[in-house]
Amino acid sequence: MPSKPRTSARLVLNGRRCQCPTCKEYFSTITNFDKHRVGDHATGKVCVDPESVGMAIATAGSSTYWITPSKDGKFYDSE
Ligand SMILES: [Zn+2]
Repeated sequence: MPSKPRTSARLVLNGRRCQCPTCKEYFSTITNFDKHRVGDHATGKVCVDPESVGMAIATAGSSTYWITPSKDGKFYDSE
């Protein structure tokens, strides 16, 4: 994992965007947040680099956050 988060959201987070309390990265949806948390209840969940699970950084105004690109290569943000 990079030591610093690569995303930042200055705007108030809406109902879908969320910040990971552990690695401080921002995600477009709780689904994308869940994707970067791996492990099970026995060992505990840990963060992985969002890029390593197929996500990319999207920009909206002065904010950036992780999204999942769609299959056709276009960025996808389910809003
Ligand atoms: Zn995290």
